[in-house]
Amino acid sequence: MISEKMLALGKKSSAIRAIFEYGKKRKAEIGEENVFDFSLGNPSVCPPPVVNETIKKLIEEADPIDLHGYTSAPGDMDTRSAIGAYLARTYGTDDTAENIYMTVGAAASLTITLGALVCKGDEVIVLAPYFPEYRVFAEHAGAKLCEVPCRAGDFQLDTQALSAAVNEHTKAIIVNSPNNPTGVVLSQESVKSLAQILSEKEKEYGHPIYIISDEPYRELVYGGEAPYIPNYYNNTVSCYSFSKSLSLPGERIGYICVSKRCVDWRELFFAVCGAGRALGFVCAPSLMQKVVPACLGKTADTSIYDTNRKLLYNELTRYGYECVYPDGAFYMFVKAFEDDAGAFCEKAKEHELLLVPSDSFGVAGYVRISYCVKTEQIERALPAFCALAKDYGKI
Ligand code: PLP
Repeated sequence: MISEKMLALGKKSSAIRAIFEYGKKRKAEIGEENVFDFSLGNPSVCPPPVVNETIKKLIEEADPIDLHGYTSAPGDMDTRSAIGAYLARTYGTDDTAENIYMTVGAAASLTITLGALVCKGDEVIVLAPYFPEYRVFAEHAGAKLCEVPCRAGDFQLDTQALSAAVNEHTKAIIVNSPNNPTGVVLSQESVKSLAQILSEKEKEYGHPIYIISDEPYRELVYGGEAPYIPNYYNNTVSCYSFSKSLSLPGERIGYICVSKRCVDWRELFFAVCGAGRALGFVCAPSLMQKVVPACLGKTADTSIYDTNRKLLYNELTRYGYECVYPDGAFYMFVKAFEDDAGAFCEKAKEHELLLVPSDSFGVAGYVRISYCVKTEQIERALPAFCALAKDYGKI
C-alpha cells in the first residue's frame, strides 16, 4: 500500500507542466521555431556575470572540502549575515543572520513556512488567481485552503471579500506581489488595507494571523517598487528565491526571512528550523549559498521582459484581447475568447500557441502567457495570436 494522495499528485502533473511537456514533444515533431511556448516561467536571459565570476573564483580559491561540504542546517552563517545586512540596508529592517533560513528556492521556503505555522484545523487564505502549487503545499501542511477573489478588473485586494473570509481558524494568508499569474503589483493602498484588516482580525480572534509573502519576483517591477510587505505588517514571513531575479531556477536557492517584528519571532524561527528538518530541507546547496553574498541587489538584465511586455500588450490589445497591463513579474493574464479557458487553449494549440488555462489558478475564463521568452519568439507568434483572434471574429 502506498500513499493514495501522493500517487494522485504524482500521476497528475500541474496544468503548467503538462503544457510544457506537450510543447517539448511538439517541438521535436515540427521544430522548435514553429512552436510558440508561453507555458513556463523559465527565465530566458542569462544570469548576471557576477554569478559565474563568483562560482569560478570559489572553485579556484575556496577550500573544496568547505565549498562542497554540509553547511549548518539553517545555512552558511556568512551568507545569512550578508542577507540580513542587505535587507536591513535596503528596507530599513532589523534583519540579521538570526532570522534568515537558507532554502532550495521559493517552493521550499513556502512548504517550510507552512509546515512551521499550520496546526490542526487551520485555514490558509490565498488571493485568486494564485500560483497553483499553493494548494498542494498548504494542504500537505494540513491546512484548509480558502480562496478569496481579487477585485475584478484590476486584481487588487478585494477588501470586503477578504474581511468576510478571515475567521477564527485563519492562520495565514499567502500574498504574492508582483504576481504570478497576473503580473499585478499590489498597490500601497491594497497592502495598507490588507495590514489593517489582518490587524483588526488578530485583535478580534486573539491570535496572530501571518502574511506569508511569496517574493520570487520582488525586484521584477517595471518602473517603481513593490511595497515591501514586512514594513507594513509585523507578522510577516518572507519566502524569497533567486530563481527569477538572477535567472537561476535550476540552481534551487532562496531563503526564508522571519521578520523580527513577528510575535515570538525566535520561537517561530525555531519552528521554521524544525519544519526544515522534518521536510529534509536542511543545508541548502553549499556552493550556491556561497555565491549569494556577491549577488545581493543584482539582477539579470530584465529590460528584455519589459520590451516583451510592451510589445505583447500593445499587439494583443490591438487584436481585441483584454488584459490588465502588468507592472511586474513576467506574466500576462488574458481573458479567453470563450468561457471555457481549456477549450480556448486547445484552439490556441491549433496555431501552435501554448498558453495555460486559468482554472488551476482559481479563476475561470482566462489564460496565462509567460513572456520571459526571447523577443523573437513573440514577434514570430504575433500572427498566430492574430489568427486566433480571427477565429473568434475579433478582427
Ligand atoms: N511562487 C511563485 C509565485 C512562483 O511563480 C514560483 C515559480 O514559478 C515559485 C513560488 C517557486 O519558485 P522556486 O523556483 O524558487 O521554487
